[in-house]
Amino acid sequence: MTGEELIKSFRTTGALLDGHFLLTSGRHSDKYFEKFALLCQPDVVEAVCASMADHFKNENVDIVVGAATGGIILAYEVGKNLNTRGIFSERVEEQITFRRGFYLEKGQRVLLVDDVVTTGGSLFELIELVKSMGAVIVGIAVMYDRTGGDVNFGITTYAIYSEIIESWEQEDCPQCKQGIPLTQRGRTGK
Ligand SMILES: [Zn+2]
Repeated sequence: MTGEELIKSFRTTGALLDGHFLLTSGRHSDKYFEKFALLCQPDVVEAVCASMADHFKNENVDIVVGAATGGIILAYEVGKNLNTRGIFSERVEEQITFRRGFYLEKGQRVLLVDDVVTTGGSLFELIELVKSMGAVIVGIAVMYDRTGGDVNFGITTYAIYSEIIESWEQEDCPQCKQGIPLTQRGRTGK
């Protein structure tokens, strides 16, 4: 799947919406991205994960590791493509960790997968966790890099699509200046 095909899927699944949105950060944006509108579509997820797996197929990946919640789906499907296991980390009391009996062995070749990179913070934490167990990270596969390629993990990273979604403080928001009301999202507006 190319970046162009992925952005098309963002649109057809409704994962990427146009409007005038209040983000959880308090900033305003003319776009809103809800990854689960896309992650609940098996055909799109299959295509995304096939691309990720294909990119790292010669890296002798022993195990695929994702981060909850989106990474659970991706790790499963990328693992299926690479004929290996897919496990996931979870956040417990603000700490990223493995539960459910998941662990990594020393020297194991790990492919990290993530759906959306916003600042990269969670991935940096996951990298530390994996390294602390003595495993080797052979690459990172990301569906959508919202830093526009700005984040550098120091590890080979493959992002299918990369673009910054612009946002503004309310006083600088072009749509507010035009008096355009905020868009209500979904049934709850969340
Ligand atoms: Zn605004």
